[in-house]
Amino acid sequence: MAGLASLRCSSRAFCEQPLLAEHCRVYIYNVALRLGVPIKGAAGLRDGIEIFPRQDRLAPGEFGNALRGPLGVHRANNHRYWFYDAGSDITSQLAYLKNLKKLSEAELTRLSLGMTIPDEFLRKPTTIELPRRNPDPNRKQFSILDFVQKPRRKASGNYYTQCPSCAQTGHDRAGDNLAISVSDSRKYKCWAGCTKEMIRAAVGQPIPIRRP
Ligand SMILES: [Zn+2]
Repeated sequence: MAGLASLRCSSRAFCEQPLLAEHCRVYIYNVALRLGVPIKGAAGLRDGIEIFPRQDRLAPGEFGNALRGPLGVHRANNHRYWFYDAGSDITSQLAYLKNLKKLSEAELTRLSLGMTIPDEFLRKPTTIELPRRNPDPNRKQFSILDFVQKPRRKASGNYYTQCPSCAQTGHDRAGDNLAISVSDSRKYKCWAGCTKEMIRAAVGQPIPIRRP
């Protein structure tokens, strides 16, 4: 796909070299299903593992969602999560990670041969009602800027402010997860991966869904 850069997962803790995000995602979805590990989002599940990155590829100038690296501190609760198979201290954890067998590109290709991301996890197109011809010229179109805090900064064509959906769950305390295009406020994106539907619901302006 022209203009789209494929993402690579570059964790040296687990891989010999940076590997295509798409291949890693396909493999992890399939392994989790085989092991019966619940995946958030499956059949409306609210709890379960989340699979990152959420994107296979990005358009120029786009960023993927933010994610916490292994042994990183979770910003919501200030906890560091340890791997179960080693002692709860940095030295043991690093020694454990260093000794793990690293996945190579050839192995990943072999392991994920013929697999695809299960249908239920593919992003489904949401049916969104097209804006009706507005009979009242004074009625304003929805603008996200009317519902968020005053942007903290402006960079590379975007405003940055707190994501209302993240804020609902006590996240984005730094107040800069939501990028809003300066030239067109209809374009906005949460770095932590909240969908437009989640953001609109969080500001009390849910996207109308066409009823059958
Ligand atoms: Zn968010």
